[in-house]
Amino acid sequence: SSVLYVVATPIGNLADLSSRASRILAEADLIACEDTRHSRPLLHHLGIDTPLLSLHEHNEPEATARVLAALQAGKSVALISDAGTPLISDPGFVLVRAAREQGLRVVPVPGASAAICALSAAGLPSDRFLFVGFPPRGDSARHAWIESLAGEPGTLICYESGRRAIATLRTMAAVLGPRPAVVARELTKHFESFLSGDPAALADRLEADPEQQLGELVLLVEGDRRTRAERDMAEQQRVLRILADALP
Ligand code: SAM
Repeated sequence: SSVLYVVATPIGNLADLSSRASRILAEADLIACEDTRHSRPLLHHLGIDTPLLSLHEHNEPEATARVLAALQAGKSVALISDAGTPLISDPGFVLVRAAREQGLRVVPVPGASAAICALSAAGLPSDRFLFVGFPPRGDSARHAWIESLAGEPGTLICYESGRRAIATLRTMAAVLGPRPAVVARELTKHFESFLSGDPAALADRLEADPEQQLGELVLLVEGDRRTRAERDMAEQQRVLRILADALP
């Protein structure tokens, strides 16, 4: 029976691929991946020779149609991306939605995702967070984007390339002011690092040390403490009202 497996792959350390993911990739009839040149070495390392089909942002409609046709024909397909969890700032949403609309089984096979990996070790509030993907390019678009997030009570998590991170941190410093923030870089890899400070200090650190601009990074900033406090206050008042109503 046909199943679409959504399979997370490592974000650096190959040992982070689960044994379940490995088994499913080996047993699937087809693996839909972003870039076959990128995924072949990983699959080769695992001894997997399942046929590959490329599904990336530039051929998503056609590739999605081919995967759906394979599923309709009773095949099982594993969807992977270049790194981490598919659909998280990666292609696959069009496919997963269409598969669900057609009543096909969609099964997640969880593993690494840089956003959650970073949040789990950054030391910023993790009870509430907002993942916002990649900041828009261009100074004014980025400025407006950060302004629109300024009142968000949860920790903000975004993806960024090392090169552009300095500009994003400077805009955060200007719009949000000093707030606890973290740059989590090269997660699960040899040069993994976590830098903590306010956005202005982090921009200075990155500028002073070009090594810190290399590779991939996740940027995290604590949410708006005022809206957090207001929300907590509103919740306390709600509970007090319920208790007061229940009292004789
Ligand atoms: N689907 C992936 C996931 O679940 O994490 C994200 C894909 S997105 C196209 C790539 C971005 O993820 C990078 O620009 C970087 O911001 C972040 N990223 C991926 N691997 C990372 C790593 N090892 N360390 C830090 N950030 C990483």
